[in-house]
Amino acid sequence: MLGLMQEHPLLVSSILRHAERHHRATKIVSVGADGAVIRSSYPEVAARCAQLARALTRLDVKPGDRVATLGWNTLAHLELYYAVSGMGAILHTVNPRLFPDQIAYIMADAADVVLFVDSTLVAAVTALAERLPRSLRAIVVMGGGELPALPVPTLAYEALLAPEESALDWPRLDERSASSLCYTSGTTGEPKGVLYSHRSTVLHAMAAIQPDVFALRATDVVMPVVPMFHVNAWGLPYCSLMAGSALVLPGPRLDAASLYALFEAEGVTFSAGVPTIWTGLLQWLRSQPGTRFTAPPRLVVGGTALPVPITSGFQSEYGVPILHAWGMTEISPLGSVNTRKAENADWSDEVFLAYSRKQGRPQFGVDLRVLDSHGEPIAQDDKAFGELEVQGHWVASAYFNRPDDEAFTPDGWMRTGDVVTVDALGSIEIVDRAKDVIKSGGEWISSITLENLALAHPDVQLAAVIPAHHPKWDERPLLLVVRRPGTEPDAASILAIYEGKVARWWVPDAVEFVDSLPLTATGKLWKAEMKKQWKDYSFPA
Ligand code: AMP
Repeated sequence: MLGLMQEHPLLVSSILRHAERHHRATKIVSVGADGAVIRSSYPEVAARCAQLARALTRLDVKPGDRVATLGWNTLAHLELYYAVSGMGAILHTVNPRLFPDQIAYIMADAADVVLFVDSTLVAAVTALAERLPRSLRAIVVMGGGELPALPVPTLAYEALLAPEESALDWPRLDERSASSLCYTSGTTGEPKGVLYSHRSTVLHAMAAIQPDVFALRATDVVMPVVPMFHVNAWGLPYCSLMAGSALVLPGPRLDAASLYALFEAEGVTFSAGVPTIWTGLLQWLRSQPGTRFTAPPRLVVGGTALPVPITSGFQSEYGVPILHAWGMTEISPLGSVNTRKAENADWSDEVFLAYSRKQGRPQFGVDLRVLDSHGEPIAQDDKAFGELEVQGHWVASAYFNRPDDEAFTPDGWMRTGDVVTVDALGSIEIVDRAKDVIKSGGEWISSITLENLALAHPDVQLAAVIPAHHPKWDERPLLLVVRRPGTEPDAASILAIYEGKVARWWVPDAVEFVDSLPLTATGKLWKAEMKKQWKDYSFPA
């Protein structure tokens, strides 16, 4: 017997409709490249989304077409989030920090039909003029300024919207239709597209606003620092409207002083970003004696691990709690969060702070399993390693245009490529990427553990551990170090840091000093490039 309940498709447009109808006075603040502030409200955003969707129809954009964006966290980008998906087309957010070749590849793979570009990023498009995909029919410049001469018709955003009516009945789409597309940063090989659906997007946002995840309320003021081109700003443009929270969109100026000014001026209560952003903010705060938050915000960190001293610095010096989350483009992105549960509810703050280095536990909607190299579940003993696999309502089932990728198992799980331990509480801790672990004589060594220990040396600014060929052990760890300016540490003093902290056979066989280390477009250590650069290395005899 079927239940007798109403059935409504889970659509991105339903989130907009909710905010428009029930959170009419909530503010939205958007900061431009020149520092100019635009203030809006959800009813105003909904009206402009209707105009934008109508204008896209005029440009002959059809359901299923890909509409690309190259933009910062701005009001126009928010309007695109809702208008493009709402009308049934697919929002393709492109990371402007990728290399031009990667942008050209991604846009061709997606076969984008229209590109919306922020006026501050027009130069990047001009540089790509000859390599824009043949599918592209129009380029729309957001944020004013002169229109560039490009081989495709170019329009101004406000002029595009102006003639259109500001009301629209959003179509009742199949909730499984695609709503947005985001490419993984691609540390190896070509970037791969992850195609989110309306259903996965709505369910992800419903889970993300829960008390043990982002804990968003209608009285919160949310500032996504994580870019809207990085996994849909971790879902925050959806979560905020769903919860009825105010939204502060910081634009391109993400330096610590500008962010702090926005936290204070707009009363931001919640923000999310990668470790470099929060590390930079903490350093800046410490350089400004007496500077405090009037009301300490809650911060979320993810993307790479945040060193515990940063988390504890924020907490003890500024009263700012940091939630550690783990995720991936393929998981929309939320996979796990480190919040307390029955077993550690009574731990002291100090003990829990040390524990916050871990990536935590899954929330409802995602399941995790960890298998060793023989495909067997690992012991939850905080020691055994294995590769993490995920399954859930907002986990990709395949990549766009690549039906057969080995990341997806025949029994319906996705291989994350992250190597983790699991403790008795079920918390995961990433010890490496599967492709970066060092396989020494058949045993695994975690490059991340060795890097974090090296960073504890006062003269080490940046450290990376990569495998180098060894005639006997196959691979042995090689430590690459960027010295802190003005210091001259030698290899022996750096290696001494490992004494008593890791097994002897884990200690790197050599240290090489370098001026810089290659980073990916999302600011992570670019191990693939380092391995290429050091592929002919031989350890000193
Ligand atoms: P991306 O799809 O670009 O967001 O990258 C996802 C990858 O970033 C994951 O597979 C992890 O390797 C890494 N990552 C994400 N969050 C964390 C975290 N909290 N700690 C350590 N690594 C992380």
